[in-house]
Amino acid sequence: MRDHDTGDGTDWTALRARFHLPGGLIYLDGNSLGPMPRAVPERVRRTVEDEWGDMLIRGWNDAGWMDWPARLGDRIGRLIGAPAGSTMVGDTLSIKVWQALDAALRLRPERRVILSDSGNFPSDLYMAEGLIAALGRGHELRVVAPEAVADSIDADVAVLMLTQVDYRTGRLHDMAALTARAHGAGALAIWDLAHSAGALEIDVTAADADFAVGCTYKYLNAGPGAPAFIHVRPDLHDLIEPALSGWLGHAAPFAFDPAYRPGPGIARMRVGTPPVLQLAALEAALDIWDDVDMVDLRARSLALSERFVRGVAVHCPDLAPALPPDTPRGSQVSFRHPEGYAVMQALIARGVIGDFRAPDILRFGFTPLFIGEAEVDAAVATLADILETAAWDTSEFRARKAVT
Ligand SMILES: *Cc1c(COP(=O)(O)O)cnc(C)c1O
Repeated sequence: MRDHDTGDGTDWTALRARFHLPGGLIYLDGNSLGPMPRAVPERVRRTVEDEWGDMLIRGWNDAGWMDWPARLGDRIGRLIGAPAGSTMVGDTLSIKVWQALDAALRLRPERRVILSDSGNFPSDLYMAEGLIAALGRGHELRVVAPEAVADSIDADVAVLMLTQVDYRTGRLHDMAALTARAHGAGALAIWDLAHSAGALEIDVTAADADFAVGCTYKYLNAGPGAPAFIHVRPDLHDLIEPALSGWLGHAAPFAFDPAYRPGPGIARMRVGTPPVLQLAALEAALDIWDDVDMVDLRARSLALSERFVRGVAVHCPDLAPALPPDTPRGSQVSFRHPEGYAVMQALIARGVIGDFRAPDILRFGFTPLFIGEAEVDAAVATLADILETAAWDTSEFRARKAVT
């Protein structure tokens, strides 16, 4: 069915109907925690009651729980251009960053520099610091401005580690160009797709990325605490020595061999027991993606976010765009305001949910799966009213909560 509003081939109305969206809310925070797909409760109930409840330990074989991390990994692989057998689900993203970085550093033993940028998510940088300390081999984390990355790739760099879409500003790095540059200098490239998987077209194979990691609770809508994923380029699988050498990454976990031997292919990126209940939610969430055309999704996400940017430019002169005009960006738009925290709290109190990122960023995610033009226009109008009337200027809205 063609959608008359957008002229593309995707039925956005039908996609939106697959989400539980509480009334009276405009949810512009799917980039932080995606909304609940309606199919999740029944899918999780089945796993809890019919599988765990009735099968008990037999569920590992009879319900196939043990294979879910690889099977769901392949389904995510399809969304990021990864061939089957090269993506594994498990753990949290921070852990997957550690695994990828450790593996990459071992592949470049003669080099000492990890290059990243100041737009990277702090956890990725913290994990790099922690790994450097744990290795104790004199590695250095070099963090440069996003614009300076390309020219900072030199023969000292072992690994280029970047998040493709800047979590704060939405800036989009050119994955293929920077990976080519890294390879040209003899370095490897790790791409964090936390803010791009499910937000735009990604082709890790065409980009020749060595490693890619990401999470499933943001644009992929698998729910709070849903596990992460890791992709490794197939020709590297057998070269990787896993640092997190847990039993489920072993070549024969149920041989209970006292010595570790890495499993075949991407299986060696597994660590321990998979979070089965959360994987059931992920599976239901991934069903939606079977019906999404990523080209249409990207076009509509840009159209919606540009509509928001134009509306803000006209009606909210106090807000400064976080990026210079025409900078490539992901599916989110950010603005700076000195009282950004209070402004966002006032907005949330009126049912428009975005988020705030220190020190002064108001961030809005546009996810065409459940956001349309009407929501964009209403969000602009509410934001404009809050700024015009200074409705944000109260002690209640200034008081910081634990999670921003
Ligand atoms: C959301 C996000 C994380 C969060 O990591 P968790 O271990 O899943 O909490 C890490 N890195 C980036 C780039 C993110 O956007």
